[in-house]
Amino acid sequence: MNAASPIVAPSAPTLVGMTRAELGDALRAIDTPEREIRMRVSQLWGWIYFHGARDFDKMLNIAKVVRGKLADRYTLARPEVTSAQVSSDGTRKWLIKMPPVDARDRGAEIECVYIPENSRGTLCVSSQVGCTLTCTFCHTGTQKLVRNLTSREIVQQLVVARDMIGDFPGLTRPTDGLLPSGEGVRAVSNIVFMGMGEPLFNVDNVAAAIDVLSDGDGLSLSKRRITVSTSGVVPEIPPLGERAGTMLAISLHAVRDDLRDTLVPLNKKYPIKELMNACRDYPGLSNARRITFEYVMLKGVNDSPAEARELVRLLKGVPAKINLIPFNPWPGTKYECSDWGTIETFSDIVFNAGYASPVRTPRGRDILAACGQLKSETEKTRARARMMAEEDGG
Ligand code: SAH
Ligand code: SF4
Repeated sequence: MNAASPIVAPSAPTLVGMTRAELGDALRAIDTPEREIRMRVSQLWGWIYFHGARDFDKMLNIAKVVRGKLADRYTLARPEVTSAQVSSDGTRKWLIKMPPVDARDRGAEIECVYIPENSRGTLCVSSQVGCTLTCTFCHTGTQKLVRNLTSREIVQQLVVARDMIGDFPGLTRPTDGLLPSGEGVRAVSNIVFMGMGEPLFNVDNVAAAIDVLSDGDGLSLSKRRITVSTSGVVPEIPPLGERAGTMLAISLHAVRDDLRDTLVPLNKKYPIKELMNACRDYPGLSNARRITFEYVMLKGVNDSPAEARELVRLLKGVPAKINLIPFNPWPGTKYECSDWGTIETFSDIVFNAGYASPVRTPRGRDILAACGQLKSETEKTRARARMMAEEDGG
């Protein structure tokens, strides 16, 4: 080693995003007596997840010497937000840089999107960096998988979002752009796992994160307001239902196996029939707890009235909602979004069969925050910045 190189201490780990078990281990590592662990965990839990604390000194119900030991060994740091954008419709997109998890990891960058409505706000979180699947209409699918996110990194996305929109006690709300308002309305009331990645290829971390997100003493999100979206990893659907008990969304996009095989290649492994059986068995379904079927509208590919009727037949017997998503084009894609009239005809057929079939309003298009577009613009911006730096001789 070069004698002059400074010895840099590895940065202290943050407690933010930890599960109760992880906090217990962190407390053991500073020699907390076993009989105190439960109490200390719940004290830290309230400070971190209810109050959004950033400073150990504020935790006045924790003995000063314990606070000192915590501060010596840990931080309450959040991952860095390297870019924050607000759309003209109030949608916000944050690029979050996760520190490396081990010596081989170069640190992951993920995007997280916040969609405010009048009386609710939805956070769209990522579960992986990139995706191993290659759905042909999805831009994330063109990007290689870098890695699974840890449960801590999944939880940190909500903590960062609440920091950024002033949604912890004592913080002020930003004044630019729409935020939901009204008595008892929470700025982030819903979470959807519809960012980057396939959550059911990372079930352990997703389920552990959901435990933290839904814990009533902390972040307190209702499980009925957490939706996990999958392209159809059939064997992982029952474990998700049993362990996490959240709402489920299925990226269906086609009603015949031959077409779904090309749009969602995972269909070759788990065809529509198996997928529908797994849906029927999903625990806790009722008319008030329905599975959402996502259907991206691709011009001339899957948008005919016959396919709408087939969709209705396919969903028979499953408590279902249908979400029609106008295709969001990205540079280089061979698909186009269906015409508005075609989407309306499709939607009417589904609606007349008794299904709510909202067409998802495209949100945040001006900041490329829509489904399937995540990460792309950032990479382009980077490439542009690199090019400009090279032109400048930098
Ligand atoms: N991997 C999971 C969750 C992330 S994708 C899944 O596939 O379900 C979230 C949703 O965005 C999915 O329904 C996906 O099919 C949809 N999507 C992907 N690319 C899209 C695009 N270009 N336009 C519209 N929706 C897209
Ligand atoms: Fe992956 Fe979902 Fe995109 Fe398919 S649609 S490539 S599963 S992120």
